[in-house]
Amino acid sequence: MEDRIEKLLLLQDTDRRLDRVLADLESIPRELQVHQKDIMEHRQRFKEFEDAVEACRRKQVSLKSDQQDLRTKVAEYKTRLLSIKTNDEYKAMLKQIDFALGKIDDIDTLLLESMEAEEEAQAESERAGRELERHQKRFETRQELLLEKRKQLEAEVAELEAEKQRAVESIDLKNYRKYQQVRGTGRAEIVVGLKAGACGGCLTNVPPQNGVEIKSGGTFVCPMCGCYVVWTEDSSLAGSR
Ligand SMILES: [Zn+2]
Repeated sequence: MEDRIEKLLLLQDTDRRLDRVLADLESIPRELQVHQKDIMEHRQRFKEFEDAVEACRRKQVSLKSDQQDLRTKVAEYKTRLLSIKTNDEYKAMLKQIDFALGKIDDIDTLLLESMEAEEEAQAESERAGRELERHQKRFETRQELLLEKRKQLEAEVAELEAEKQRAVESIDLKNYRKYQQVRGTGRAEIVVGLKAGACGGCLTNVPPQNGVEIKSGGTFVCPMCGCYVVWTEDSSLAGSR
């Protein structure tokens, strides 16, 4: 293999490793965000149940106050009964007392229902609280790990960037520009292997004579994608596998 191709291959390999490490590094804040969103959702759920418990309690206070008012009224009505003169008025007052007592009973039913609802909401709230705690702990452990991993990856990036710098310096400007040009088009590789007689970059067939030259150590520049096609470990000529 030509010396300049070997150097390009070295740069290409360093860049490939650098790309991988950078992608890993970028995935860390994304993963942390996913965890944070999960915690927020659990916190929200917990809060909803807590609010439901609170609403039940407020409702019970209000119902009890209504009930107290009715009891006061019943007591008043009973006092008034004593001073009523006519039979009709007496009957009407008794009817009012009955009505108020009926309402007091209705409120008892509502109170019972509300207390049951409170109990359920309380149980849900406790469950949600435990879930939240569990997720929070898991997040903290994961976060610690991810931050540790980030440090390692940042060190790797620094190392690889120094390695890349050395590789770049060993390459002449013309070849480096070409390399940059190919990478600029989104391709990760400029030096590719001959794959079943075709360019490993774009899969265009390489003329058989050029294939033979590649096999004996030559370099072919693919007219389609501009890659340097060379013989690599997994290379093969057309028709062979
Ligand atoms: Zn090609």
